[in-house]
Amino acid sequence: MTSGGAGRRSRTSIIKEALMLSKEIQDALNNQIKNEYFASYTYLSMAAHCESLNLTGFAKWLRKQSQEELQHAMKLFDYIVDRDGQVILQGIEKPQSKFKSLVDIFQQALDHEREVTGMINKLYEKALSENDHATAVALQWFIHEQVEEEKSATEILDRLKLAGDNSSAILLLDSQLALRS
Ligand code: MG
Repeated sequence: MTSGGAGRRSRTSIIKEALMLSKEIQDALNNQIKNEYFASYTYLSMAAHCESLNLTGFAKWLRKQSQEELQHAMKLFDYIVDRDGQVILQGIEKPQSKFKSLVDIFQQALDHEREVTGMINKLYEKALSENDHATAVALQWFIHEQVEEEKSATEILDRLKLAGDNSSAILLLDSQLALRS
């Protein structure tokens, strides 16, 4: 083997190293997969509560939201795979199973989405600080998505607060949420 060959190999490994996810970013992405699964589990638990009240529109909306969170998790999963990183799945906490009211559910949903926004922002800052542009760009999709998530949780919460104890208003909102495709 010539020294040229060895040189070529080391250049290749230098390039590969530069393209690799840092351990810190990989850990943070793996952690975010867990957060998205927890969000999915939490929405599913909220859906179960609404099913028990026969609020099928609320339940449908929450089931869809639960599925969306799984898609978020898989987007991160695929990104780690694409970057030749290692996906390490973590344990998911047990979600809350008792809720005081619909307002309680959507207040919690909004609070949780705000928390997730904070987590995504922290991840984005970490990617920028490491000059990991690919991760920063991938995270921009999540940053936009969080604007939507907070917006829809806020809309439903505000309408629930307006409805108060008025059953007709709650049933109307239930039939509107059933339309989510
Ligand atoms: Mg999410």
